[in-house]
Amino acid sequence: MTEVTITRRSALLGASALPLAAGLAGAAPALAAAPMQSGGGTPFARFKVGGFEVNTLQDASITRDNPQGIFGMNVSAEEFGTVSAENFIPADKTRFFFTPTVINTGNELVLFDTGLGAGGGGNTVGALASAGYTPDQIDVVVITHMHPDHIGGLMGENGPTFPNARYVTGEAEYNFWTTEGAEGGAGPLVAKNVKPLAEKTTFVKDGDNVVTGITAMEAFGHTPGHMVYMIESDGGQLLLTADLANHYVWSLAYPDWEVLFDMNKEGAAAQRRKVLGMLASDKIPFVGYHMPFPALGYVETRGDGFRYVPASYQLQL
Ligand SMILES: [Zn+2]
Repeated sequence: MTEVTITRRSALLGASALPLAAGLAGAAPALAAAPMQSGGGTPFARFKVGGFEVNTLQDASITRDNPQGIFGMNVSAEEFGTVSAENFIPADKTRFFFTPTVINTGNELVLFDTGLGAGGGGNTVGALASAGYTPDQIDVVVITHMHPDHIGGLMGENGPTFPNARYVTGEAEYNFWTTEGAEGGAGPLVAKNVKPLAEKTTFVKDGDNVVTGITAMEAFGHTPGHMVYMIESDGGQLLLTADLANHYVWSLAYPDWEVLFDMNKEGAAAQRRKVLGMLASDKIPFVGYHMPFPALGYVETRGDGFRYVPASYQLQL
């Protein structure tokens, strides 16, 4: 080691002809170029809502091409480009985030959605560990809707990922995906990951409680039984909006832009207007499953649509 150090120092001194060398004299030489680090996705973020601790978990994030094909199906390329440029984002690429949420109510640990699953590149269990929890501590798993990026983590190679949990999901959603002939793309995964848990599942409707302080609300459109969840504790409120609106610019500012993954496009747009309107008028923060991590923000009415206001420290005080 000593030899190496001397060698490097000699090399530096030998470069005294360079104008920079005067500035370097006496400074410690750099030992090595630091390697580039890939990744860097923050695994979790923690907030307070009244007496509840709310943790958003970064299951995964991926870059995708051609976002207009997903988020702006019924607008011109010109309009899509202009709106994107006005908001400092490219029109030819986007980044998807997948964000389950785990809430400690003080009595129960409630997980909302389970990510892509290990086979799909998700790591909800790892993010959960970063937040200080193990899978066997989860008391309730709530499934907002049954697209693969929400139910992928329910099962692992050795059975249920959350062995001590009971489950909650929308009755309409379950009935849709398990009715013969109406299975669509997610049908086989529902059969594999959701159906085996049916005996431990409570099927809820609009207004039903998951536990005290967590209430299911129908927001059908993205899928036929898609639900959002209102969190209330000690006067604090937070809405988990799941896949109500899936891009912080394209879907919030332009709720009527058609989204590839919305199974009922008009219904989904109507729900965006209704629920985002409520968030804006009541100034309620929300966690959106596909918002940029940590996925927590506010909504302001602007023009004919809404503006996303990322949260800073409001729920960390
Ligand atoms: Zn989704």
